Parts: sequence; structure tokens; C-alpha cells
Amino acid sequence: MAVIGICPCRKLPDYCESVSRAGGEPRVLDLSQGKPEDWLAAIGGVLLTGGGDVNPALYGEAPHPSFSPAEEGRDAAEVALVRAALERGMPILAICRGVQVLNVAAGGSLVQDIPSQIEGALEHRVETPPTAIAHEVWVSPGSQLARILADRLSGDSIAVNSRHHQAVRRVAPGFVVSAEAPDGVVEAIEREGDALCLGVQWHPENFWRTGEFRPLFDALVTAADQRTR
Ligand code: MN
Repeated sequence: MAVIGICPCRKLPDYCESVSRAGGEPRVLDLSQGKPEDWLAAIGGVLLTGGGDVNPALYGEAPHPSFSPAEEGRDAAEVALVRAALERGMPILAICRGVQVLNVAAGGSLVQDIPSQIEGALEHRVETPPTAIAHEVWVSPGSQLARILADRLSGDSIAVNSRHHQAVRRVAPGFVVSAEAPDGVVEAIEREGDALCLGVQWHPENFWRTGEFRPLFDALVTAADQRTR
């Protein structure tokens, strides 16, 4: 069974349940000690999870007043993890803060605060219930994301939840936008070519009971399984 390494965060159960339901074995990583190669040694894929803001110093900016940092040490550990995983072509699924970490680790930047920096933005912070639909996203035709969600799309769009105030701004080299909200906010990026490397800004893990986004976790587990075989 493919082992999926999950970054520690405050709301782990839904991530673990989503991986289990896709046939993977969830393993919460201990990023507080050891090195990226140790963390990656025993897993077949990486799941980057939600949380606080990435320190904007990592993409060369001063913090916006709304800056709400993640747990001490989390930025450095996750950036190192992502870079090591990218080097090795290890499958990655990145969620919410995860897509922001992925983009920054690969050389991109972020919108630091959507409400104050994007004129006419939709409401991207709908906190409860976790599965509350906040807006739709438009998925880029021909993208990995479009292939993975093919059975769930209505036209090119799909309805998502949304609990973020930051988003991808400058897309990292080698990556492309694979979904955006109707207000232009980037909602997914991916790297073409090697193994699955995909990040989404919404929270697919909250839908494990009803399965709307199970294909994302299936894709991660399948890619991890093929790699470890
Ligand atoms: Mn959103």
C-alpha cells in the first residue's frame, strides 16, 4: 500500500481520512527533526496541508499587516521538504497553505491579502461549515487537474469551499495555472511532465464523506503506488 507523508497541521483528521479512503496509508511526518531525505525515505507521496501564512521574506517581500504566521519552523521544514520532493520527482498534492508553500519553494510569490489587494475579489473566506460552497473555479482545459476531475466538472467549472486570504501571484517557473476563480484568483497550479505535482487552494479533504474530490486523493495514491512499485 502506498504510504503518503502528511505535513503536521491543526486539522489532520480529514486529510488522513481522505488518504485512507483512496487506499493509501497516511503517515504524519515529524518535520521537527532529521533531514528531508529521511522524511522522504519511507513514503511514496507527499500531502501538503493547510495552515498559517508563509513568511513573505521567502519571496522577498515585507509582511502585510494581516500576516498570520504558521507554527515556528514550519516554513523552513516544508520548503526543504518540497524542494527535495521536486528534485526526486516524488508525487505531491498540495492543499491551501500547501499550494502556497509549493509555489514559494519553487520560486513563485503570493498575493498576501486578497480582500485588500484584489479589487472586486469574491469572498474567499467562508469558514463554516467546512464544506460550505464559496465559489466556483474554472479548470484549465487539458490540464492534469481537468483530467483528474473530468467526471466531476460541469463544463469547465466545479464548486469549491474556500478558507484563505492569500493566493498564488507569480507562478513558479515550470508551473502553470490549472484553475482560477471568476475574480482571477489562482485556485490551482501544477507542474507538467513528471509525476503528479498539483496544488489546489480549496479544501478537498473536507469532502471525504461525500467524495466530490476523491479523484484528487486517488491520483496521489496511484502515483505514489506506481513510484514505489
Ligand atoms: Mn477561493
